[in-house]
Amino acid sequence: MPTCPRCHQTVDAQAIACPYCRTALKAHGHPGIPLYRSVGEESLCATCTYDEDDTCNYPQRPHAKECTLYQNRFQPVATHKSSVKPIDSWLRRNSTWLVLAGIVVVSLVLALRMN
Ligand code: SF4
Ligand SMILES: [Zn+2]
Repeated sequence: MPTCPRCHQTVDAQAIACPYCRTALKAHGHPGIPLYRSVGEESLCATCTYDEDDTCNYPQRPHAKECTLYQNRFQPVATHKSSVKPIDSWLRRNSTWLVLAGIVVVSLVLALRMN
């Protein structure tokens, strides 16, 4: 169990404020973001989506016993992200390359017209 940095009472790992002195406990994750903890010996990474798709670069991977990013791969993602269409997220992720490709195409067209 973590302790409060000010009054040193034992506090819940997912607490966003100390129940004794009301100090905000941001070190345990941003307020409102749960800290996931493994049950038993198995690490969280073993059942984490981000380990399965190899997108996690947390140093504690693959032995994380506590993690704020953990996403159970057996449970569907129930965030606003699921409403984003795959093409939208693809465009967003590759927008830099699309802009560069556009510049190259325009430059080529202009270069060809000048000849
Ligand atoms: S997000 Fe956390 S639980 Fe998931 S693989 Fe990375 S360290 Fe492990
Ligand atoms: Zn306290």
